[in-house]
Amino acid sequence: MLGCIADDFTGATDLANNLVRAGMRVMQTIGIPTEPLGADADAVVVALKSRTIEPSLAVEQSLAALQWLRSLGARQIYFKICSTFDSTPRGNIGPVTDALMDALACDFAVATPAFPDNGRTVFRGHLFVGEHLLSDSGMRNHPLTPMTDSNLVRVMQAQSRHQVGLIDYRCVAQGPQAIRARIAQLRVDGVGIAVVDAISNDDLLRLGAALSDAPLMTAGSGLAIALPANVGISPSPAAATLPPARGAAVVMSGSCSLATLAQVAHFRSQGGWVLALDPLELAADGERLIAGAIDAAAARLSSVPLLITSSATAREVRDAQAQLGVEAAGALVEAALSRIAVALVERGVGRLVVAGGETSGACVQALGIHQLRIGSQIDPGVPWCHAAQVMGHRDGLHLCLKSGNFGADDFFTRAFRLLDSGVSP
Ligand code: ADP
Repeated sequence: MLGCIADDFTGATDLANNLVRAGMRVMQTIGIPTEPLGADADAVVVALKSRTIEPSLAVEQSLAALQWLRSLGARQIYFKICSTFDSTPRGNIGPVTDALMDALACDFAVATPAFPDNGRTVFRGHLFVGEHLLSDSGMRNHPLTPMTDSNLVRVMQAQSRHQVGLIDYRCVAQGPQAIRARIAQLRVDGVGIAVVDAISNDDLLRLGAALSDAPLMTAGSGLAIALPANVGISPSPAAATLPPARGAAVVMSGSCSLATLAQVAHFRSQGGWVLALDPLELAADGERLIAGAIDAAAARLSSVPLLITSSATAREVRDAQAQLGVEAAGALVEAALSRIAVALVERGVGRLVVAGGETSGACVQALGIHQLRIGSQIDPGVPWCHAAQVMGHRDGLHLCLKSGNFGADDFFTRAFRLLDSGVSP
């Protein structure tokens, strides 16, 4: 079994989705579960929220996840990081990789965020986002992890105790044997961590084949496409099979990202039933509004999806934030949407789409969900999932947690059509 530790929630789903597409049956857990794994799996992805917390806490949580995964029999460990290598000189990619290496008594690990299919390439150790160097991309202005250096060897060296080296594109192009030989040489030279170039998905496939015996790898979701083949697993629709979907359909949207705004507009234009929640009204009369929303939606529940949304334009969001404060506005909306989601699941919703990373986190927590089986992809990076144990539901809950900027305009209707037809695009 492949054991994976992801440093954030939507990143975990992205990784799980890639593994399923490559043929593995995957369970994703929210944090480290206290109960046993709910179903058989070829890979288990533990979703932490450790990307920007204190390095010592990130290490502690990652080691706890490692211990749990090893108790399940994990043979290899995949530390999933962001494809833009989000980190600071304090961490957390370096300290967590170092700690996992110590715990696994391993003296070498690769580190690569490359995923050429998604426009993340690494060339001579430098990360490109689309056509631009990382340091010229929007990531240079990130509020928490501004990435101003594209040279990943230097970035990793600043945060790791190990000497950091490079496996460059010429070596990778020669195939698994050459990569293994290079790793052997780097180990002799005292290098503990190597950034690896990948400028095409074929590079990742060659790298993955060379890592069949590696105890640990640190990577974005890209490298995952190469690992199932090492254990004789090939792409198969069976890996994505979920139990039959039952119950009413609802979309809860708390994302204000452009993609989600377009999805809300598309849903409206198709004549879908929409209930809009406004944070200022929630602040003034929240209890009545939430109760009214639950009653109005509960009266219309069916297999035709309803949409409950707080999604608003950047200007409307700024107005609400100016009056309520940024965090208070977000917390009000997240609390309202997750309470409504819980009430509607209690009243028979069996298929739920949630739009927004934070909003998804709030809903999953309120629903008491700790484990998800990963199903087929709706749009890149966004699969249907199934939670077996949700508030006493015999059939469990089909759930899609969509990061705000993902998905095509018709996502809120097409997602349910795909689930009902059982067909993956
Ligand atoms: P995304 O994945 O697009 O970033 P998130 O759910 O992670 O979406 O973040 C959106 C945040 O904005 C949440 O905290 C949500 O509660 C908040 N929010 C949603 N609607 C509004 C609104 N109308 N005004 C202010 N904040 C809002």
